[in-house]
Amino acid sequence: MSARPVPLIDLQAQHAAIRDVVMPAVQAVIERQQFIMGPEVRDLESAIARLSRVPHGIGCASGTDALLLPLRALDLRPGDEVITPAFTMGATATAVHNAGGTPVFVDVDRASFNVTPDAIEVAMTPRTRAIIVVHLFGQMAPMEEILNLAERKSVPVLEDAAQAIGAQRNFGGRGGAWRRAGETGWAASLSFFPTKNLGCWGDGGMILTRDDGLAERLRRLRVHGGLRKYFHEEVGTNSRLDTIQAAVLLAKLPFLEAWSAARRRHAEWYTDRFSAQGDVTPPWVDPANEPIFHQYTIRAPRRDELLQHLTARGIGCAVYYPLALHLQPCFAHLGHRPGSLPEAEAATREVLSLPVYPELTDAQREAVASAVLEFYGGKGVGGGRKA
Ligand SMILES: *Cc1c(COP(=O)(O)O)cnc(C)c1O
Repeated sequence: MSARPVPLIDLQAQHAAIRDVVMPAVQAVIERQQFIMGPEVRDLESAIARLSRVPHGIGCASGTDALLLPLRALDLRPGDEVITPAFTMGATATAVHNAGGTPVFVDVDRASFNVTPDAIEVAMTPRTRAIIVVHLFGQMAPMEEILNLAERKSVPVLEDAAQAIGAQRNFGGRGGAWRRAGETGWAASLSFFPTKNLGCWGDGGMILTRDDGLAERLRRLRVHGGLRKYFHEEVGTNSRLDTIQAAVLLAKLPFLEAWSAARRRHAEWYTDRFSAQGDVTPPWVDPANEPIFHQYTIRAPRRDELLQHLTARGIGCAVYYPLALHLQPCFAHLGHRPGSLPEAEAATREVLSLPVYPELTDAQREAVASAVLEFYGGKGVGGGRKA
């Protein structure tokens, strides 16, 4: 078998497939020269809000700002605490710090990598001002239970849905009730970073909310704290979504559902391939969830060696995330010790994300699985089953 490289993600393949749709949309913005808050921004906000089944979408400059702005709206004071998972991208917790609060880190569930209501409850204090729930790798956390807890304690839940646009979870009850990522929290943040499931051509983000007052406040905060130019009701910032980025995203949006379905198909295929093999632990899918597989993340013994093995064969893979947030140098002042959040720390040593992008071909998928199985001495090369 020729070792043809398989990238972790292939944005060029995606662009080649949709060039004819995206380029004219961008061209139109360029011809019109309305780069700030052009009509595409409004259109995208409505479209993403509809997709996520909330009344308000507020475009902003990045997924990081989509976390920061709603946290700013909480008017945190020194010592105010915001609960956040220790196993996530750094922005989830640095946003808390930058909004003036203190991140309180909680451990994650071994199977789902997501936060649990139990861990959150234990971490709550009278100073808890918010809970951030990250739907990691594209699978929703048990929101219905977390919302119950949060309602009992009157604490708002901010969903970090940067990796979970369009993901769904069945909240149960009579007949079942499918809820989207970002639909049920006090607010939710999305990222349009190029490698996210819906990515633009630079940085971009959006906040979702059902709260009319919050939506108005966020629209103000992103334009210097006042909707009337040169009048500032409060101290805001510049965090708008560029019109060009909105145009790119609007052009890509109709493909998102099919892309997510392709990711799920790839994931199922891998999991099928890996299940018979004893070493690799495929990602667990909660039966209540329909994930979007932003990442396909296995647990692997001798992870670093496997990473080297795959890299040497031209197979893209990466560790999301190599260091838990409570142990990051930037949070050293919080005084956490290694061993305090064991599942988050174990995950950083064991996880490896494999290529799961929609355009992955059958041959590439086979190459990835074969190389993984070959490392563990299983039946790797050839004999691959058809999809
Ligand atoms: C990507 C990401 C962010 C930050 O988004 P940016 O657009 O890169 O600022 C925040 N949280 C999570 C979980 C992410 O994956």
